[in-house]
Amino acid sequence: DHPDPADDNTATALPRLLDRARQEYRDLAARGLALDLTRGKPAPAQLDLSGELLSLPGARHTAADGTDVRNYGGLQGLPELREIFAEVLQVPAGQLLAAGNSSLELMHDSLVHALLSVLPGAESRWVDQERIAFLCPVPGYDRHFALCERFGIDMIPVPMTDEGPDMDAVERLVAADPAVKGIWCVPKYSNPDGVSYSDATVARLAAMSTAAPDFRIFWDNAYAAHDLTDEPVGIADLLAACATAGNPDRAFVFGSTSKITAAGSGVAFFGSSPANVRWLLANNAKRSIGPDKVNQLRHALFLRDADGVRTHMARQRAVLRPKFDAVARLLEAGLGGTGLATWTAPKGGYFVTLQLTDGGAKEVVRRAAEAGIVLTPAGATHPYGDDPRDAVIRIAPSYPGLAELERAIEGLTVCVRLVGYERRAAAAEGVS
Ligand code: PMP
Repeated sequence: DHPDPADDNTATALPRLLDRARQEYRDLAARGLALDLTRGKPAPAQLDLSGELLSLPGARHTAADGTDVRNYGGLQGLPELREIFAEVLQVPAGQLLAAGNSSLELMHDSLVHALLSVLPGAESRWVDQERIAFLCPVPGYDRHFALCERFGIDMIPVPMTDEGPDMDAVERLVAADPAVKGIWCVPKYSNPDGVSYSDATVARLAAMSTAAPDFRIFWDNAYAAHDLTDEPVGIADLLAACATAGNPDRAFVFGSTSKITAAGSGVAFFGSSPANVRWLLANNAKRSIGPDKVNQLRHALFLRDADGVRTHMARQRAVLRPKFDAVARLLEAGLGGTGLATWTAPKGGYFVTLQLTDGGAKEVVRRAAEAGIVLTPAGATHPYGDDPRDAVIRIAPSYPGLAELERAIEGLTVCVRLVGYERRAAAAEGVS
């Protein structure tokens, strides 16, 4: 009748837990899995929701304003599509550009243009400055960090809170150093931790004093319409807040239909103040005689209006939600009560973040790969790939089928238990 003391005493339970985790890992490795949780790609079932795009715009080649979409021109993009996304991205249609298929490309180009031509409000080109730095809320999106590395922009990590970046740190850093020219923000259902910025965070970003007169917020609203619950999160309107605060040129807003329609053939958007829009258009006029307006027209015909976007996103959610639910259920089943990890329960977006209590993320990713489960490299969520606590693992549940995803998450929890208990055992022996 007596409870096994090993169940209560962590020190004596550990050898058994470790033995079991080792056996489970051997079983896992023997299954010869080939599963991939690396990137936030839509699954084929999600792409099928926009199948109609492949037959649009049909024989039609005239936009609402009479533009022949097959021809050159229309650098700002089709007005009827900009009208639809004005509401989604909180940018007046007249200040919104509809461009190519990738918002990352627009972020890249905005950086290049800021380096090579003087921004509104700037004293000189960024390339003429001795040093340029960006604030990088962490954990964050690896491709933002890759852009900074590509252009020699120093990265200063700032911790995320559950309301967005730590604004005390942000305000201190931007006020102190004119080399700090920008900050990366994914304001809604952030990649990877699912955080949405509070109204207070948005207000402080808009109003804070910056030493650089040409400071820019790179507002990457990639998940603006990507809710996973019945209570969509609303974020404050940054562009309007900047204008009200007397910093009208501070915000660069980005978005795309990559995870609304087709990730490789959607439409990307840039929104900002009239001065910034003129600046970008003038620079873009050198690199293009106009965007793919056929694609823009078919998107406008397919989505119809902002309500059409919401209806479509409800269908996306029906495909995605069961996958996020499965991840939550299996993480709880495999790691609940172990104290080895915590994880996010995002209300939208594309990712679940797993935080290992005592580090070991690199080792977990390595062991998982050896067992046939490929994860985003540990550290990718931090500038220079350096997660100082080696704690964050990003899980991207969208692409695999449900059964495959379930196998991958179960396997991942085995790896977390294995590495977690090994580390505890090593720490107990004082050899960590
Ligand atoms: N920003 C964020 C935060 C993302 O997660 C992604 C896609 N993973 C992108 C941008 C890429 O957007 P696009 O396809 O429009 O280039």
